[in-house]
Amino acid sequence: MDLEIPGCMPATAPTGLFRGAMTLPLPALNDEEGPRVDPSLPPVVDAHVHLFPDRVFDAVWRWFDQHGWPIRYKLHTPEVVRFLLSRGVSRIVALHYAHKPGIAREMNAYMAGVVAGEPRVTGLATVMPGEPGARAILDEAFAAGLAGVKLHCHVQCFAPDDDALAEVYEACVAHDLPLVMHAGREPKSAAYRCDPHALCSAARTEAVLRAYPKLRLSVPHLGADEIEGYGRLLERYDNLWLDTTMVVGGYFDGVDGWPLTVARSDRIMYGTDFPNLPYAWDRELKRFGSVRDEEVLARLVGGTARDFFRLPEATP
Ligand SMILES: [Zn+2]
Repeated sequence: MDLEIPGCMPATAPTGLFRGAMTLPLPALNDEEGPRVDPSLPPVVDAHVHLFPDRVFDAVWRWFDQHGWPIRYKLHTPEVVRFLLSRGVSRIVALHYAHKPGIAREMNAYMAGVVAGEPRVTGLATVMPGEPGARAILDEAFAAGLAGVKLHCHVQCFAPDDDALAEVYEACVAHDLPLVMHAGREPKSAAYRCDPHALCSAARTEAVLRAYPKLRLSVPHLGADEIEGYGRLLERYDNLWLDTTMVVGGYFDGVDGWPLTVARSDRIMYGTDFPNLPYAWDRELKRFGSVRDEEVLARLVGGTARDFFRLPEATP
């Protein structure tokens, strides 16, 4: 397997909302971590966790060390799962991505094995758009217990409205399973093989929402750096969700998705990017504790993710 696999949220020169404070590599924050989830919070679902085979994790961390930021939690899959569940996270949605053709089956089999061993982990499938047998790869992954698809426009180098994606969208619709797609433009990296600003835009995502009204789509990182544009899409399309991963903790200077998050708890969910973080595992979760409306809080930290991924109700 080619191990030059890029990470999920690499850093780059500032553009758009990511202005002013991004010089490579970005620093670690030595912020204090809490011992566990605040027991007064409603059940917490982390809707954006990464799990990979060990060799891929090691390659992702090498990539971050060179292009991104210091990874605070270099934990492999069993340790990631144990870390979060033992600290009181009720459920994990696990994501991965194939960066080239020919490896998705192996990666999906790995993820299916993880899910089979821990019912509190919901795993999504990966596929390289346009690779031979893409539809069959997804059908097999769903039959093996994976509960949706993760795509990454930057790592996999495609535009949301690329024709190669039609069979992925159709597979999700046919199985009534959700799609998580990193379709925001940031953060882009010179280390990518393609320019995310040339591939991605809220307008291109809107074209997908319009063409596939039955597709349930979540865009991570609140669609950064077009957070306002994605906020407008939420108003117009009932088939769009967003997650808050890395954009409500003040790590990126000038980026704060908090006002939109609180305003649209019906369609926005908490996620972290754990374990590939440069700061405390609960940095962003602590901010949710400031929400006074109990219904809003319950949706943000778990309810909306349970709706989107159709997860079982949490047991208190
Ligand atoms: Zn991620």
